[in-house]
Amino acid sequence: MASRNPKDCCQALQEIIPKVIADAKAIGIIIVIYCTWRSLKEQMDAVKAGLSKRKFGAHNYVDDNNKPASEAFDFYIDKFGKPLWSTASDTNQDGHPDYIQVGEIGKKYGLEYGGDWETFKDFDHLQIKGA
Ligand SMILES: [Zn+2]
Repeated sequence: MASRNPKDCCQALQEIIPKVIADAKAIGIIIVIYCTWRSLKEQMDAVKAGLSKRKFGAHNYVDDNNKPASEAFDFYIDKFGKPLWSTASDTNQDGHPDYIQVGEIGKKYGLEYGGDWETFKDFDHLQIKGA
C-alpha cells in the first residue's frame, strides 16, 4: 500500500508539509495527507485507475540508498474526520474552494499545484516544481 508518511518524502517536503497543514488550519481548513510515496507497481495501478497519466511520477522518487523520497504528496479536505473529495468543498465557508486555497498555500512555499495543470487537473496534489 502506498505510504502516507511524510517521512517518505524528500527533505524539502518533510519541512514544507507541516507548514502547509498549519497554514490551512489557520484559515479553517483541515487537511489530511493520504499519499506520499508510491512504488512503481502502485504507480502503474494508479495509471490504470485513471488517477495518474505518468508511469514514473513525483511520488516515485527514491534517494541514493533506495529509500522512499517522494517529491509529491496528496491531501484531502477533512470534515469531522471524513474526506471531502468535491473540488467545490468550502468547509471554512469563505466563498473560496478549499482545494484551491490549499494549492495556493503550497505555491507560497514554492511548490507546484496539480490543480493548475492544463491537461490533467490533480486538485489534491502538491509537488516539488518540475518533479
Ligand atoms: Zn499526487
